[in-house]
Amino acid sequence: MHSATRAPDAGPQVDDESSSGAQASGAVAPAASDIEICANERADRIATGIVTIVPVLALGIVVWQAWAEFLHWHDFLVFAVMYVTTGLGITVGFHRYFTHRAFATSTPLRATLAVMGTMAIEGPITAWVADHRKHHAFSDQEGDPHSPHVDHGHGLRGALRGLAHAHVGWLFLHTQRANKRRYAPDLVGDATIAFIDRTTLWWIGLGLALPFGLGFALGGTLQAAFTGLLWGGAVRIVLLHHVTYSINSLCHFFGRRRFATGDQSRNLAWLAPLSFGEAWHNNHHAFPTSAAHGLRWYERALDPSAITIAGLRRLGLVWDVVTISAQRQATKVLTTPR
Ligand SMILES: [Zn+2]
Ligand SMILES: [Zn+2]
Repeated sequence: MHSATRAPDAGPQVDDESSSGAQASGAVAPAASDIEICANERADRIATGIVTIVPVLALGIVVWQAWAEFLHWHDFLVFAVMYVTTGLGITVGFHRYFTHRAFATSTPLRATLAVMGTMAIEGPITAWVADHRKHHAFSDQEGDPHSPHVDHGHGLRGALRGLAHAHVGWLFLHTQRANKRRYAPDLVGDATIAFIDRTTLWWIGLGLALPFGLGFALGGTLQAAFTGLLWGGAVRIVLLHHVTYSINSLCHFFGRRRFATGDQSRNLAWLAPLSFGEAWHNNHHAFPTSAAHGLRWYERALDPSAITIAGLRRLGLVWDVVTISAQRQATKVLTTPR
């Protein structure tokens, strides 16, 4: 069983050596072939707008629900189940496994992780992975799809513009999206992943049907089903979206830098638990293939994705887990941490 599914080496692989920016990856400047052409820009923007705004409107209903004391324990339970399922789908699945190949696994678990991540509504899997690999290849330089530091001007105004672009603005622009065939050929050429990518809307639907069904199962009424949908759907989507966006914006702006990475990535401790460990982002840019982003013991304790991968390894469900030795870590430590 340990024979299968290591992604084939193809495309601009993001590894430790390419982590220090565009120069190190061999690409001095982004070329036209790096960019994915958006087939229907207006439809894409409308869809992104709906996904961005509707959950925020739903939060208004949630506040009213809490105020009117209609809130039940099962709403929180449905929220927690869906937040953890889709969150780990993004961090363990889309990010550490599909983008960076931090471990190997079987075809069934590979498909499961792809579906869990797709339910988060952060875009089809191949686009997510391609954009993220391009982020590492051009980190905080021209070509990075969501850097808060490129072309946003100076001073407070420039900083706020940069943060807004890195947080959510970049989703509405299609000028630096990664060419999927160039940045994710291993996924484009994988029949299972290509199918899940094509059927993204099904899995988004499943991600809404699950909290509806779970709400009904736990509460026993149609009202419980709808509040389950509200919490496990809308509230979960908006919170996970903004946590993911914050890795792109806040974690390239605020926090501490321990490693020399050639970009502005930072470790932001308070965001670590909610982001399943992704906020140890300077560590991640220093060692992109590492399965754990928390490298010190206390960082590791606040890295639920690393704990999950370790658990899956113990169960024999994943293997070839990439770890970074203390000696290797020492080679990139900044002499004066910032
Ligand atoms: Zn980053
Ligand atoms: Zn990454």
